[in-house]
This record gives sequence, structure tokens and C-alpha cells, in this order.
Amino acid sequence: MNSASDSLIETILERMRAEGGRITQKRIRIIQALAEFDHPASADKIRQSAGLAETDLVTVYRNLEALHGIGAVQRIPLENGTQLFELTVPGEHYHHLICRECHQAERLDLCVGKEVLGRAKAHGYSQITHVMEVYGVCKDCDDHS
Ligand SMILES: [Zn+2]
Ligand SMILES: [Zn+2]
Repeated sequence: MNSASDSLIETILERMRAEGGRITQKRIRIIQALAEFDHPASADKIRQSAGLAETDLVTVYRNLEALHGIGAVQRIPLENGTQLFELTVPGEHYHHLICRECHQAERLDLCVGKEVLGRAKAHGYSQITHVMEVYGVCKDCDDHS
């Protein structure tokens, strides 16, 4: 594991403590597993790579929710209603390009935030957030068909 993800893990653990969240061994392993992925992953994949095969998937979801609650995990909705999860620097968010066939997701280096914020403020809204994910068929899947 590189030092960038080490310091991100430290930041997340500090935030978790500050918010009164529990730091369990399982939680640490889930954070470490998330840090190893270079793309968003399903709860089941995260469970496997955290070495928690014996752990109930509900427990994994509960941990991911707790991390989402402190801004350390972003949920990426798929078109089929399931979700992928990605470790997030608290306070940041990302947009993704997601293949509807193989469910690979990659970050899109783009944010529509400013424009959205301006419009939403013009409607009198405050505490504005936004979600934007882009779906399509990736090059690999397109080649196979
Ligand atoms: Zn694909
Ligand atoms: Zn954005």
C-alpha cells in the first residue's frame, strides 16, 4: 500500500473518531480493502478483498453506510438498482463513467458543480449537493458483441 492511501486511511479514521463512530477491526479492514481498489467495487468484492468472507453482507453494508455518513465513501448507483462503493477524500466527490454490461466504473475528470450550484441558488436553494453518473457500454464489451 502506498503512503498516499496510508494518509487517507489515517484521515478517515480520525474523522470517524471525531464523529463518535466505532473503529472496529472489520471497519479498518474494509477501509484498507477500499483503498486497494483503483475503481469502484461492489460490497461483495469489498468483502472478499477485506478477507471477510465469513462476515454477513449486511454487516459490510452497515460499515459502508457508516463510512458514507462521514463522507469517506461515495455510493455509485448502477442502472439495475445495485451500488458500487469508492473510497473518497472527505469533502470531495467524483463522477463516473459506468459500463452497463460489465459494471466497470471509472472516474470522469469533470464536475458540473459550479453550473448546477448557480442554477440551484437562483431557485433559492441552500445546502446544495449533486449526483451525476454517466452510463454506456465500454470498449471491451462493445468489441465482444
Ligand atoms: Zn464493459
Ligand atoms: Zn460534481
